[in-house]
Amino acid sequence: MKHQTQKTALCPACNDSEISYFLKKNDYSFDCCKNCEFLFLNPMPNQTILNKIYTEEDTKAKDGYKKASSRLRRAFIKLPRFLPYAINKKCLDFGCGGGFVAYALSFIAKSSNGVDINAKAVAYAKRRFRFVNYFCADFTELIKSEDQYDFVHSSELIEHVSDINLYMKVLEKLVKKNGYLYITTPDLGHPKVPDNIKEWDVLCPPIHVQHFTKKTVSMLFSRYGFQIVKFYKNKKPGLIFLSKKF
Ligand SMILES: [Zn+2]
Repeated sequence: MKHQTQKTALCPACNDSEISYFLKKNDYSFDCCKNCEFLFLNPMPNQTILNKIYTEEDTKAKDGYKKASSRLRRAFIKLPRFLPYAINKKCLDFGCGGGFVAYALSFIAKSSNGVDINAKAVAYAKRRFRFVNYFCADFTELIKSEDQYDFVHSSELIEHVSDINLYMKVLEKLVKKNGYLYITTPDLGHPKVPDNIKEWDVLCPPIHVQHFTKKTVSMLFSRYGFQIVKFYKNKKPGLIFLSKKF
């Protein structure tokens, strides 16, 4: 099929060959890796298709931005958590959407930056917030960039990307040595995930194309020079962790 990459025989997260069919939802087929617990679409839709879905999803609101006021409030509530790693540092929100987290970070950072593939979202952020450098770029552009950051925030993006290794290579490039990376994504290993996983509303291909457990991210991030220093407690089935680039 034109809109899908070829089926892989190796786990994209850990390169192991112990992958097998797991389940089907919305006509998309998931494989699971025995070695690292990664759950991923196989075959995987290509990034062009995913970008289109993602862009439509986030800018559905006619005027302004979907759930703007609650996104802004939550960004400021989270700020104390970022303080030790972001204060007086060069910060980036990777997948910044409407710019809320980058704006909150601008109050503590030396410089705050936000990048997204969604031009509409970046335009909204630029109109609404000052003192932040918002820009539009995709992974292939970012990987060529010379800019590096002390603190990179990337929330609810990793479950959307077609090429997980390209995303990781971009992160490896963007984070300075001894810098910190804060990631959030749905938690496949959380006790609140339904026993019949098909009932989990977060399992929604092709909007989300892959899912992780603590084990998956520990193995994947270490392959790219990141050591996970902290998993944050979460009552909801969301994986939140901080890693350090060594
Ligand atoms: Zn694996």
